[in-house]
Amino acid sequence: MSFTLAIVGRPNVGKSTLFNRLVGKRLALVDDQPGVTRDLREGAARLGQLRFTVIDTAGLEEATDESLPGRMRALTERAVAEADLCLFVIDARTGVTQPDMVFADILRKRADGRVILAANKAEGNAGDAGYYEAYTLGLGEPIPISAEHGEGMDDLRAALEPWAEQF
Ligand code: GDP
Ligand code: MG
Repeated sequence: MSFTLAIVGRPNVGKSTLFNRLVGKRLALVDDQPGVTRDLREGAARLGQLRFTVIDTAGLEEATDESLPGRMRALTERAVAEADLCLFVIDARTGVTQPDMVFADILRKRADGRVILAANKAEGNAGDAGYYEAYTLGLGEPIPISAEHGEGMDDLRAALEPWAEQF
């Protein structure tokens, strides 16, 4: 049993850091392989006993402020379409921003409940306010994680486990 998880969210929230932590050196597909564009990076993820495919929506990093909403929407909708499940990441240190709300809207409408919300950069106390703000996105209980420091990975695994049985 396996599933595909797309990591989505605005630039700089730590998506690629999390992707790299989940995939380690097991990068299954690289940019120049057929069907994988520059914008979506795919790898074989491991989290405890869980094995799944993870997609990093990397292409938004080069977007300008002006092109951001359109590109954000297109890329997120593609990730939603290609993945079984979305991990929507916000930056707990910054709190909920306008682009986060745009993502939340898309995910509420299109992902049909297949969304797990993670509040990254939650190490220490600096993310506490942002973590509680994340509840206002209407996507359920956020999971506090630190992709950089590897914190919250057990809780993330626990949230993913029911989906592993479903797909
Ligand atoms: P992306 O644009 O969403 O892919 O974000 P990146 O993975 O490139 O990370 C953006 C910045 O956030 C980098 O400077 C990371 O080192 C930093 N970062 C990522 N995860 C964490 C974390 O858990 N805690 C802190 N404090 N910084 C983080
Ligand atoms: Mg990235």
